[in-house]
Amino acid sequence: MARVEIRSESCKSCGYCVKFCPKEVLVIGTRVNSKGYEYAEPQNMEACVGCRMCAVMCPDAAIEIYK
Ligand code: SF4
Ligand code: SF4
Repeated sequence: MARVEIRSESCKSCGYCVKFCPKEVLVIGTRVNSKGYEYAEPQNMEACVGCRMCAVMCPDAAIEIYK
């Protein structure tokens, strides 16, 4: 299992990471960062295969993957 870290303050709620994750690990949550964006969060971390697709797609470089 890999671990995903999302820097909530860098997230702009675009949803690309949610859309492109092949394992449906991520969701746009209901919590809001200081800029007013509902940020992405892992909902199903156990399913993460560490493919890094979410990190590559994020336009704000808000995601780090640790294996
Ligand atoms: S590393 Fe891959 S499987 Fe894990 S959350 Fe990102 S896109 Fe999904
Ligand atoms: S791709 Fe990046 S900016 Fe967009 S929702 Fe995901 S973490 Fe946030």
